[in-house]
Amino acid sequence: MRKIQMVDLVTQYQDIKTEVLDSFSQILENASFINGPEVHGFQKDLENYLGVKHVIPCANGTDALQIAMMGLGLKPGDEVITADFTFAATAEVIALLQLTPVLVDVDPHTFNIDPEAIRKAITTKTKAIVPVHLFGQCAPMEEIMEIAKEHDIYVIEDNAQAIGANYRFGDGRLQKAGALGDVGATSFFPSKNLGCYGDGGAIFTNDDDLAHIIRGIVNHGMYERYHHDVVGVNSRLDSLQAAVLRAKLPHLDRYCEKRREAARAYNSAFRNHPEITIPTTVRECEGICDTCDCHVFHQYTLRIGGGKRDGLAEHLAASGIPFGIYYPIPLHRQKAYLDKRYAEGDFPVTNQLCKEVISLPMHTELDDEQIQHITRAVLEFMGG
Ligand SMILES: *Cc1c(COP(=O)(O)O)cnc(C)c1O
Repeated sequence: MRKIQMVDLVTQYQDIKTEVLDSFSQILENASFINGPEVHGFQKDLENYLGVKHVIPCANGTDALQIAMMGLGLKPGDEVITADFTFAATAEVIALLQLTPVLVDVDPHTFNIDPEAIRKAITTKTKAIVPVHLFGQCAPMEEIMEIAKEHDIYVIEDNAQAIGANYRFGDGRLQKAGALGDVGATSFFPSKNLGCYGDGGAIFTNDDDLAHIIRGIVNHGMYERYHHDVVGVNSRLDSLQAAVLRAKLPHLDRYCEKRREAARAYNSAFRNHPEITIPTTVRECEGICDTCDCHVFHQYTLRIGGGKRDGLAEHLAASGIPFGIYYPIPLHRQKAYLDKRYAEGDFPVTNQLCKEVISLPMHTELDDEQIQHITRAVLEFMGG
């Protein structure tokens, strides 16, 4: 059996090796490292794939979120609502821009931001909501967009974990994650579903004016050479990374399907266990999501009941099986994001999830033998 890894990028590389090396060689021969044709080509390819008017590549996913907020003209003191159960980058950029992060609880089944909690958190200072499409499945965007419309506030999608996922509206219409809100941000960190071989990110929008503003911000606030109209940043996707992404994008749907295959195999092993809760799919997709493309399983995350999560983690570690705890500490309890406005009772779900979640190896190269080995080890400890 091949060694089990949390993410196996080495085996995945073999498939696109020739193409990547050919592109690298061309870029090295031309020394077109910055703003080369690969970057523009990738931008166009991704616009087509997502069905979005503008993709603006940038240096990483954290920058993408920050630049999106700068582009919308959010000002110090503006409140931005986001999920308590997420990676810190989301709240970090809000705080960095001197906006006020307002963390709210999530749904116990999908792990995504809870629309009711958003409603309760809205004040006259609220200017934006940042739903995170956690673990590869969209937050309830139809409800979130409705709330945003009612209160005239922006929606910025943190799509770092769900590129390639579809969102199904109540009327059956499908749209790609990241292209639903006013603006979307994604990361091409190597372990993401569409990852490059270093850092990378992108911002998406259908708004021509916003796209123009953002294109200036990523390039030192320049709209005309050496004329700096706004304070910007330097945030670029380089040509080598764009070449990797261009080679991988045509495979993204297949990569997502490989992840879903692994998820289905895990699901059938754990579905009937009384202390294991398998990942739940969104309400709109109830019953069909096992085979449809609304979940791209960036992570395959179980909830372990009976206070057995940490014991299971130790057992897996002893068995040489990698796992992840995403996330062990709620953001509202992180020193950097403490705020008097929060009470522990505001976050019952996140607090519980942090004690119960465990993510199993999930990537495009898992085979049946490896999955069996993993499920056997989990059930060995959990019984059944
Ligand atoms: C990875 C990630 C980011 C940050 O992306 P980087 O490219 O590492 O800066 C932001 N938000 C979420 C939810 C992520 O998973």
